[in-house]
Amino acid sequence: MAEVSTPTLEGVSFTLTEEQKMLQQTARDFARREIAPVAEHYDRSGEFPWDVVKKGQELGLTILNIPEEYGGIGANTLEECIVSEELAWGCSGISTAMTINNLSALPVILGANDEQRKLWLGRMVDGEFGAYAVTEPGAGSDVIGMRTRAEKKGDKWILNGSKMFISNANVAGFFTVFAVTDPEAGHRGLSCFVVEASAPGVSVSKHFDKLGQRAADTAEVTFEDVEVPEANLLGGKPGKGFYLAMQVFDRSRPMVAAGAVGVAQRALDESIKYAKERTTFGTPIYNHQAVGHMIADMAMNVEAARLLVWRSAVMVDELGANTKFASFAKAFAADTAMKTTVDAVQVFGGYGFMKEYPVEKLMRDVKVFQIYEGTSQIQRNVIVRELFRE
Ligand SMILES: Cc1cc2nc3c(=O)[nH]c(=O)nc-3n(C[C@H](O)[C@H](O)[C@H](O)COP(=O)(O)OP(=O)(O)OC[C@H]3O[C@@H](n4cnc5c(N)ncnc54)[C@H](O)[C@@H]3O)c2cc1C
Repeated sequence: MAEVSTPTLEGVSFTLTEEQKMLQQTARDFARREIAPVAEHYDRSGEFPWDVVKKGQELGLTILNIPEEYGGIGANTLEECIVSEELAWGCSGISTAMTINNLSALPVILGANDEQRKLWLGRMVDGEFGAYAVTEPGAGSDVIGMRTRAEKKGDKWILNGSKMFISNANVAGFFTVFAVTDPEAGHRGLSCFVVEASAPGVSVSKHFDKLGQRAADTAEVTFEDVEVPEANLLGGKPGKGFYLAMQVFDRSRPMVAAGAVGVAQRALDESIKYAKERTTFGTPIYNHQAVGHMIADMAMNVEAARLLVWRSAVMVDELGANTKFASFAKAFAADTAMKTTVDAVQVFGGYGFMKEYPVEKLMRDVKVFQIYEGTSQIQRNVIVRELFRE
């Protein structure tokens, strides 16, 4: 994949560089050729889309953000967003299955030493998957309320607890796991470890049957007296987990938001096509103002969401800080995509409700964008916190 330069935050540019356009085109072709044609099959079967994922691996789509010095593509956040939008246009479930690796690599990229990076990122470059484990059965939004406990015994950490709704849990070779190392220290008492999926005491549930994004594996992971070597602690010392998780969010939220934009764009594209073909009262339905305006709103909001995604991505790439904008992008893109897909079903009328047509799947798939990587309510909490801190 081509090397891509980052646009500057000085002045305003809405144009991608030639290299970025090539990257976008590569992902777009992949989504249209390899993902969209099999999306319905994987939605129905709920199987993990190995054949597509393997083709994506050949293009480097599962190691996008791994720095080149460790064998990855070296994409920055903006470039990841460009790819994420295109892949999600094809199917956001398959896209999640493929790009979750980039999320699980983030704690290693941001918090590991050189030796750890060589090991874990190198394994991903060789084709292995990681999974990112923060959420627990009793604590999702409330990250500090997590209970998974890591206690130091000699030169090892002993891990006990369980993690809920973990994407790619059944295909991962290792997990980046957040756990409490000091229960008295609040957010300073959380730490992040890399845990081998094959370690004695690690078990993964069957994958959950879901409303949408059914091609992506989601499961519960349980740790029972799992021995984790000190060398697997990220951040150099215990207590760095919360800070690391927040740094991850600044990068993962734009990327997830970009996926929502991709689904919304697909809903818009399908709506335009259908509204030209379907006639009622002797005219294509887009000529009825109620329908035309719905589609105009979709187009406006998709474009606004994309601009927020790009801005939040460029901010973290250039300044290393974008928390408020990452939440703007995540909440706006997810909420926009939800409304856009619901409206797309409306544009299709009764056919929109049928599995034979593409939009009901978009509506089911997109709901989770308002839930994972921080719910839409939590994004607004972050925005309020940032506004009043300013
Ligand atoms: C398909 C799928 C894949 C996922 N993949 C992963 C993964 O790979 N790794 C991972 O760690 N997690 C993953 N998650 C978990 C996801 O991040 C959590 O579900 C999410 O953070 C919400 O947590 P919760 O489910 O515990 O809901 P809760 O935190 O219990 O929230 C329930 C409701 O209350 C609201 N709420 C809670 N607290 C507040 C508050 N303070 N103010 C306002 N409203 C509030 C929420 O917005 C929500 O509407 C995944 C989830 C799903 C569904």
